[in-house]
Amino acid sequence: MSDIKQSQPANQTWDLRSALKILSQYENEYVETSEPVDPAAELSGVYRYVGAAGTVMRPTRTGPAMVFNRIKGYDNFRVLIGLLASRQRVARLFGVPKEELAQLLRKSVHSAIAPVVIPAEQAVCQEVVHLASDDGFDIRTLLPAPTNTPEDAGPYFTMGMCYAADPETGEHDVTIHRLCVQGRDEISMYFVPGRHLDQFRMKAEQDGQALPITISIGVDPAIEIGACFEPPTTPLGFDELAIAGGLRGRAVELVQGVSVNARAIANAEIVIEGELIPDYRVQEDQHTHSGKAMPEFPGYTGEAQAAVPVIKVKAVTHRKNPILQTCIGPSDEHTNLAGIPTEASILDMVERALPGLVKNVHCPSPGTGKYMAVMQINKRGLQDEGRQRQAALLAFSAFSELKHVFLVDEDVDIFDLSDVIWAMTTRYQGDVDTIFIPGVRCHPLDPSQDPAFSPSIRAPGITCKTIYDCTVPYALKSDFQRSQFMEVDVSRFLPGFATGQP
Ligand code: MN
Repeated sequence: MSDIKQSQPANQTWDLRSALKILSQYENEYVETSEPVDPAAELSGVYRYVGAAGTVMRPTRTGPAMVFNRIKGYDNFRVLIGLLASRQRVARLFGVPKEELAQLLRKSVHSAIAPVVIPAEQAVCQEVVHLASDDGFDIRTLLPAPTNTPEDAGPYFTMGMCYAADPETGEHDVTIHRLCVQGRDEISMYFVPGRHLDQFRMKAEQDGQALPITISIGVDPAIEIGACFEPPTTPLGFDELAIAGGLRGRAVELVQGVSVNARAIANAEIVIEGELIPDYRVQEDQHTHSGKAMPEFPGYTGEAQAAVPVIKVKAVTHRKNPILQTCIGPSDEHTNLAGIPTEASILDMVERALPGLVKNVHCPSPGTGKYMAVMQINKRGLQDEGRQRQAALLAFSAFSELKHVFLVDEDVDIFDLSDVIWAMTTRYQGDVDTIFIPGVRCHPLDPSQDPAFSPSIRAPGITCKTIYDCTVPYALKSDFQRSQFMEVDVSRFLPGFATGQP
């Protein structure tokens, strides 16, 4: 595996194309194909094998991001999938080692820079404009939204940065949501209860008003990761675009929409402009009646919702030769998008309450980025015994959708799950080191969080949160030294060999 000498300065990325340029300097981070592909199920079927990883059905693997240059039925569009489907790739895009991403994101929250609005003539996302009032306008034939599996409710936009303002306060919020194409100018939008944009939508609806919204697709990956922060790190009214600004040291640029009173991301490949219509719902699978929506991050296909809000599309704008970006819901892309902000949120909370106790946090791929965290604990003396469990309780407060916390000592590599399981095998006793916290609100897309699964679950999305304390009791530490090998220079025996020492 070749490596360029120096990580790129993070500010060299300002849009999707500059990010792809950085990736193409590495071996095995970026591939293209010009073989024509059907966006209906085939495209995702290919990438499942090439690089999806995560909770995707086996066989799958970690692989490069992939661009399909020829999309059947859509002459002018390319489709990118898997941009962030490897933690190593995310680290390269942000110019830090992959173990330091959580700290980088944490710093970005504290050095947030508010977005700025630039004039329309400078906004590349409006190079080409299609108005919904134009003859023949139809998002179904205009945009190659992939249908991920043959049983899905329809084509979905999976990497759209949905951006709108609170009708009362004018404060903005950006989030990624499940968006299903429902008609020539209609897109349904699914909200897990409590999401900030849904709160804006409900406020507008109570006044009988539509909520203007933009969906920016194909943007700087800093925006994509920043958009995935959730409360309490980013409370209602916190514009998550400011985190991307902090991460790049440069404000995200916005542009006023051409058809609605809302702002879009100026460097986006594609922008859909529209309005969330009050008192109007559709059945998510109204065209298929399959009962299925699309593959979701826990690895199962989400249930179609009986009644979801609808965006009436007013315009689509795009760059010349646009790239539509998509992801597979259960792929490692989701783990990174959701998990790295979760790691940053946990670190921030524990560092304020228990400074120096937690060295690092990892929300690994099989835990979907949301449901599982491994915390690396540094017990400094007898007084820290038991504080590791306090840190786990804080982690549940830092991110409400967390289900399992694994606590390990400072000599365990939290990015190597084999090492974590080793700690569980040799430093854990089930009856005394497992802490159950039953009946806590968590997340409805985990199918085990259901009353049918356990009598302790009163409603879908409630779960038994669990702490697995795999740390050695401080008083016994001397009995748990790992075998110490001699420090040597391997390159004397195998020239060019890198030991992976920190
Ligand atoms: Mn928010």
